Amino acid sequence: MLFAAREKLWQSRRSADGQLCFETAQVEPEAVAIIGARACDVAAMKIQDQHFLQQSFVDPYYKARRDNLFIIAVNCSRPAATCFCYSTGDGPFVEDGADIVLTELDSGFLVKVQTSQGKVLLEDLSLQACTEKQVAEHEQIKAAASIQEKQLPQYDIRSRLRHELNNEAWHSIAAKCLSCGNCTLVCPTCFCHSENEVPELDGKSSGHYREWDSCFSQGHSYIHGITIQSEVSQRYRQWLSHKFSSWYEQYGRSGCVGCGRCISWCPVGIDVTESLACFEERRRD
Ligand code: SF4
Ligand code: SF4
Repeated sequence: MLFAAREKLWQSRRSADGQLCFETAQVEPEAVAIIGARACDVAAMKIQDQHFLQQSFVDPYYKARRDNLFIIAVNCSRPAATCFCYSTGDGPFVEDGADIVLTELDSGFLVKVQTSQGKVLLEDLSLQACTEKQVAEHEQIKAAASIQEKQLPQYDIRSRLRHELNNEAWHSIAAKCLSCGNCTLVCPTCFCHSENEVPELDGKSSGHYREWDSCFSQGHSYIHGITIQSEVSQRYRQWLSHKFSSWYEQYGRSGCVGCGRCISWCPVGIDVTESLACFEERRRD
């Protein structure tokens, strides 16, 4: 919703007198409300905010959409088998970052406001104050949803991965991995992209587009005639070690919010928590 899969950044055009002109693509944001964002979505958005808004360069396209976004989040009451947001510290409840947060109770929804925009919206509704019983039910749901089948392994992943660059495990995971890039395309924190020139049929102008890319595509590491990550094992290692190790230096935390989408969408059943566990077991050996 915020980092578009494909968008034009600028275009060039040859004018009648033969001069080349460059024009920045204008952003035309619409006000958008997302209803039903989960804790992992909100946590991922905060990471993307860091990347697109809080670095030396503020991305105007992301900013325009972010400034016009209203979020009604829903706390998770039942985790899926692939969820591990509790162990990344990002869920299952939304602590901040949304405008309004709903929790489904037996008797209806408990509504919590997190921003002034959310407050304005609720002022127009005739809601009842919640009871102590409903608050207690809310806490019980939170405790139940925090019990998740999956979790990150309990070792210092950040520093361990730095010392495992030549571990055989990268090759055994890569033997299954199709390098399809599904995991990166569904990951809510990934932001890799490529930029491409698309000529128009008039022969006088071209558009410059930004499109989602993946560290699993071979061309993504092509520089000056060399594909740096030519092996699938190198690409998987790049993805995992960036998400769970070098991401800390860039953004002060890991790049995983425990949403489990990469697990759900991997066509060969590679599970990121199991991949990380390989390094724990091998070190113990
Ligand atoms: S989705 Fe699975 S098979 Fe595809 S690149 Fe990711 S880990 Fe490899
Ligand atoms: S790495 Fe997988 S589990 Fe973690 S945020 Fe990305 S898609 Fe979700």
